Amino acid sequence: STPAPVTLIGLGPMGRAMVRSLLRAGHPVTVWNRTASRADELVAEGATLAASPAEAVAASEVVVLSLTDYQAMYEVLASATGALAGRTLVNLSSDTPEVTREAARWAEGHGARFLTGGVMVPAVMVGTDACYVYYSGERDVVDRHRSTLAVIGEPRYVGQDPAAAQLFYQAQLAVFLTALAGLLQGTAMVRSAGVSAADFVPQAFGTLTQLPAMVAGTDEELDSGSYPGDQSTATMMGATADHILRTSAALGLDLALPGAVHSLYERAIAAGHGGDNWTSLFEIVRGTSA
Ligand code: NDP
Repeated sequence: STPAPVTLIGLGPMGRAMVRSLLRAGHPVTVWNRTASRADELVAEGATLAASPAEAVAASEVVVLSLTDYQAMYEVLASATGALAGRTLVNLSSDTPEVTREAARWAEGHGARFLTGGVMVPAVMVGTDACYVYYSGERDVVDRHRSTLAVIGEPRYVGQDPAAAQLFYQAQLAVFLTALAGLLQGTAMVRSAGVSAADFVPQAFGTLTQLPAMVAGTDEELDSGSYPGDQSTATMMGATADHILRTSAALGLDLALPGAVHSLYERAIAAGHGGDNWTSLFEIVRGTSA
């Protein structure tokens, strides 16, 4: 079938990458951005610049929003609410669960369908086979626009609650941001001995890529709440966490990250999990929901 028209509002790195993927796939693309000059190259490549948000919304049934947060959506669409009826808004901006739910009610109040999404790759990977996007909202809306959405990345539907995609997005980013911070901590430790990042970072990448094999079975332990301590006990790992904290202190490094990790082990051991596997820290991480 003929590629459907798509409107893209928000031309940061992500929005621009999405426009280029859609143009390459043959979709007519209408764009709007607060700073209009960010559309110049895209117009040269075949996109149409709308004169206003209302004109942009009117141009396509599918309207993708790629903005810094949801407040930006309200600011942009304030003058376009009359054009929203019958449109499908696909908001790929990050925000908190409750803000997302409120936005879905707001959009539906104006007669629009609303999907929430979280793109799980950086801009350079948008539109590649590695790109996938969590979606939540009405499943039939995702299904109806699947071939268009798939141009940006593989759609992964995670539920009707508009907040679900945000939750999955942020859960993945919790893993990602913590790993990135750990990479910097480790690099700072060896750097104190004069070792360059060029020497150390590739070795740290090895640790990251071997991680799945090293912690095989983790998911089963977390799901069952049983943490048999036959390999890497909380006591053993906690002793190492203590060494990392004290080494970092001796080196004059920032202690926020090693302090946080050490605190998880310390509290798990205090709660009686010392002889259990390191996965028993899950009971601490879950807080009052445990
Ligand atoms: P940026 O945050 O750099 O910018 C996004 C756009 O938001 C710009 O077009 C900007 O307009 C617009 N904007 C911000 N505030 C307002 C406002 N009050 N009114 C109107 N327009 C506004 O975006 P990215 O492209 O990096 O990211 C977009 C979304 O994608 C974010 O939610 C981000 O969390 C998410 N994301 C980003 C990834 C990345 O690697 N960058 C990866 C995965 C997801 P203007 O040009 O005028 O400033």
